[in-house]
Amino acid sequence: MNKKTFTLGIFGGGQLGKFLVQSAKKLNIRTFVFTDSIDSPAIYHSDDFIISNYKNKKKLDFFIKNIDLATFEFENIPFQTLDYVEKKITVSPKPSIIRILQDRLKEKNFLNSIGIKTTEFYYLKKVNKRKINNSFFPAFVKTTRFGYDGKGQIFFKDKKNFLKYSFKNNEYIIEKLVNFKKEISIVISRNKSKTVAFDAFENLHKHQILQKSKIPANISRKLNNEAKEISKKIIDKLNYIGTMCVEFFVTKENKLLVNEIAPRVHNSGHLTLNAYNVSQFENHIRAVCNLKLKKPKRIYQATMYNILGFDIEKYRSKNITKNEFFYDYGKKEIKDKRKMGHLTKII
Ligand code: AMP
Repeated sequence: MNKKTFTLGIFGGGQLGKFLVQSAKKLNIRTFVFTDSIDSPAIYHSDDFIISNYKNKKKLDFFIKNIDLATFEFENIPFQTLDYVEKKITVSPKPSIIRILQDRLKEKNFLNSIGIKTTEFYYLKKVNKRKINNSFFPAFVKTTRFGYDGKGQIFFKDKKNFLKYSFKNNEYIIEKLVNFKKEISIVISRNKSKTVAFDAFENLHKHQILQKSKIPANISRKLNNEAKEISKKIIDKLNYIGTMCVEFFVTKENKLLVNEIAPRVHNSGHLTLNAYNVSQFENHIRAVCNLKLKKPKRIYQATMYNILGFDIEKYRSKNITKNEFFYDYGKKEIKDKRKMGHLTKII
């Protein structure tokens, strides 16, 4: 590859990577995708790609030699890989931040240490399981790392079932069930000089997987601004460069609890592709490349529906109206609950 122009390296080749690549192209930025899966939608759009295990040093060296900067579309890249790459080239956002946000325990401790409220939790290694009060249940046990879309989570209705369960190791937290009114998320981007955020997306999950997101969220302006302020505090304290998503529970008392932070562009922000003057993907590229961020302006009301597993086949033959935008990620293998595409309806 001829290194004639600025090239952005992206770890991960899923749909988030695909949208990042397309946004980079719009900004005349070359892209080079490094993915460990042959079934990676992003590789059909990027200028170059490597399909390899993330720990293959030879392949990593070639990748590093041919890019100017690295970013990623998902956070579960092995630490060893990010550390290795960072020794030779800038990785944005910084791997040291990802170490915090990849781990539910570290993330919650960080948030609580800066005065931000999360769900009540215990670290199973540090607590006598028998001493957890009955009133703490129902509760979710979650692995501290590598969980997403409900993976690595077990729900316990009561303490009896919890005590009967034998856990493989103690790298879990137990989290009290929040009887929330709704869920919202804030997608926020930061470069070296500025931070910009979208207004809240209102999210509905089914079996812990995002089903749909809509804008505007049906919450007060005050709550929307509060969620944005909390997100700004988080991104500033972390000195984070790039785009992140802060997911919140809105309690019955209209209080905000941070559920988790995704250190990347996020599924709930897909509707920004069609309903805003700028997408979350473009602002991520702008942030990591230190280009001017665009202040988000909403153009339409919109709802985004995730298309999972074999449902994609129905959509492939559906008539799409002019107010609908259908995205087929082009994944080769259809699997139950796999995110295969999404549809955004604008009003
Ligand atoms: P997570 O992967 O932790 O974001 O969980 C995915 C989804 O599961 C959340 O968006 C909620 O819909 C649900 N969930 C997870 N933890 C809790 C909790 N402590 N209380 C209520 N719902 C939860």
